[in-house]
Amino acid sequence: MKNNYRLIWHIFPSYLIITIVSLIAASWFMSGTIRDIFLERTESSLKTQCLLLEKQIADNLDPLNMAAIDAECNKTGGNAQTRITVVLSHGKVAGDSEKNPSVMDNHLDRPEIVSAFSKKTGRSIRYSSTLGKKMMYVAIPVLSAEGISAVIRASLPITAVDKEIRRIQVGIALGGLFIAVLATIVSYFISRRITRPIEEMRLSSEKFAKGELGHRLPQPGTSELDTLAKAMNKMASELEIKIGSINTQRNEYEAVLSSMIEGVIALDTNENILNINQAAADIFNCSPNLKGVSILEAVRNTELHSFLKDAIVNRKTKESDIKIFKNKEYIINIRSTLLYGSNKKPIGTLVVFNDVTTIRQLESMRRDFVGNVSHELKTPLTAIKGFVETLLNGAVENIDDTKRFLSIIEKHVNRLNLIIDDLLELSKIEQMDERSEINFIETRLKDVIENAVSLCREKANAKQIKIEPEYSEEISARIDVYLLEQAFINLLDNAIKYSNSDSTITINLERVENKIKINFKDRGHGIAKKHIDRLFERFYRVDKARSRDAGGTGLGLAIVKHIIRAHGGHITVDSTVGKGSVFEINLPV
Ligand code: ADP
Repeated sequence: MKNNYRLIWHIFPSYLIITIVSLIAASWFMSGTIRDIFLERTESSLKTQCLLLEKQIADNLDPLNMAAIDAECNKTGGNAQTRITVVLSHGKVAGDSEKNPSVMDNHLDRPEIVSAFSKKTGRSIRYSSTLGKKMMYVAIPVLSAEGISAVIRASLPITAVDKEIRRIQVGIALGGLFIAVLATIVSYFISRRITRPIEEMRLSSEKFAKGELGHRLPQPGTSELDTLAKAMNKMASELEIKIGSINTQRNEYEAVLSSMIEGVIALDTNENILNINQAAADIFNCSPNLKGVSILEAVRNTELHSFLKDAIVNRKTKESDIKIFKNKEYIINIRSTLLYGSNKKPIGTLVVFNDVTTIRQLESMRRDFVGNVSHELKTPLTAIKGFVETLLNGAVENIDDTKRFLSIIEKHVNRLNLIIDDLLELSKIEQMDERSEINFIETRLKDVIENAVSLCREKANAKQIKIEPEYSEEISARIDVYLLEQAFINLLDNAIKYSNSDSTITINLERVENKIKINFKDRGHGIAKKHIDRLFERFYRVDKARSRDAGGTGLGLAIVKHIIRAHGGHITVDSTVGKGSVFEINLPV
C-alpha cells in the first residue's frame, strides 16, 4: 500500500537525517584529527625527553654504570611523570624510572625497541600489562663508536589523551545536539514554509472541485509556486466561463425542450430515460422527473414499448401512430431517431411525440366526406340512369309510364339539386368565414326569427304544426342577416320534418349574462344520445330513409354549425327520444 504521508513528513525527516549525519561525520572527523594532534604532540614531547637524556646515558655506557643510568632514569622520569627506560643492546633493561631493572624481562622484542635498534625512532601504542594502562612508547637509539649501544625509551600513559578526546567528543556531541535541535526547528519551519502554500493550493483545488470557481489562490511568493498559482487561477476563471456558458446552453436547451408542444423523450441504449420534457409527461400522465428510470416502468403502453424496442435494437429511424387512453382516445404520432454521443457513436434514441388526434380525425372526416358526397350523388344518378334506360328501351311508348318515370327522374334531379345547393352553401360559408367576408350588421334578432318563421309557415301549416316565438326583450346583435336566417330556417325545417302533426315548436330568445340564447324546441321524435356527438357532421343522418323521404340532404345541421361558428357562437343539442329536441344557439353579445 502506498504511504500517503503529508508532504512535510517527506521533507522534514530528510532535513533532520542530513543534519544528524553531517554532525556525526564532523564529530568523527574532528575527534580523529584531535587525537592525531595529541598523539603527535605526546610523541614529540617523549622524543625530546629521550634526546635530553641521550648525553647522560651515553656517558654511562662506556664503562657501563647501570646504577647511574637507573638514577638518571628515575631523576628524569620522576620530574616529568614520564616513565624512562634504558635498554642495552642485548635487550637487558639498564634503568627504569618505575621499576627495578633487575626484575624486568628482556625488552628486545618490544616493537619500538626493535625500530630504535634499526636506527629509527620507534613508536608504539599498546596496553602495558606491567602498568595496567594504555601507553605510548617512543624509543631512540644511543649511538657510540661501536654503533648502537643502547636505546632510551620514554613512555606516557595515553589514557589522559583518550580522556581529553572523550571530553572534546562530549562537547561536540552536546554542541551537535544543540545544533540538531536548532536544525530540527529551523528545518521544520522551512518545511512548513514550503508546504503551506502547497497546502493552500490543495484546499483551493478542493474548493474548485466543489464548484467555488470564484475563489482565487493567493500568490505564495516563490516563483515556481507563483506560476502554479497563476495557472490554477487562470484555469478556474476559464472553467467558470466555460461552466457558465454550458449552464446557459443547458438552460436554453431545457427552456426549448420544456416549451415545445411536441413531447420529447431521450433514451439510452438500455431504454432508461435520459431526458423527458413536460409535453411528453403530459401526454403519458407521468412526472417529468424520471431521469434514469426505465421507460418500461415510467410509461405503461405496449404499443410504445414494441416501437422503442424495434427502434433501439435495429438502430433505425421509425415513425408510427399509437393510441393512448386517458379520458378519451388520443392518437399520438411517434418519430424516433438515433441519438449520437460526442464520439459519433449511438448512445440512445430520441423520440418525438405529436398529438395528431384532430389531424387524423379531420383526415378521416375528409375521406368520409368524399365517400359520402360520391355516395349521395351516385344514388339519385343511378336511379335517373335506370329510368332513362327503361324509357329508351321502349317504355317511352307508354305515355302513363313515361309521365310516371319522368316525375321520378324529376324528384331525383331535385334531390341532386338540393344536395349541390347545400354543398355550395356550405363551401360559400366556409370561404366567407376564411376570408372574413361575412357582413355583420347590428340587427334585431326578433326580425330575423320572424322572417325565418314566415318562410317555414306553409310547411308547418301543412302538418298542422304551430310555431310559437317567445321574446322576453328586444335583443339586437351584430349578425349576417342572410346567414343567420338560413340557420334558423334549417333548424325550423328539421323541427317540422322530424315532428308529428299537431305539435308545437317553440322559439325562445333571451339574454343570459353576456350571451344571447336562442332555443328551438320541438316535441318531435327526438334523437338518441349516441348520435348527438356526430349530429353536426356532413351527411350524418340518424335515420337515412326518414331523412330522404322528408327531403333532407344530411347537410342542414353542418351548415347551421358553420354559420353559428362564423358568428363566434356555438350550438348544443338536448334531446329525448319520443319527447323532442332542443337546439340551443349561444351568440356573444
Ligand atoms: P337532414 O337534411 O337529414 O335533416 P340535418 O343535417 O339537418 O340533415 O340533420 C341531420 C340529422 O339529424 C337528421 O337526419 C335527423 O335524423 C336528425 N335531426 C335533425 N334535427 C332534428 C330534430 N329537430 N328532431 C329529430 N331529429 C333531428
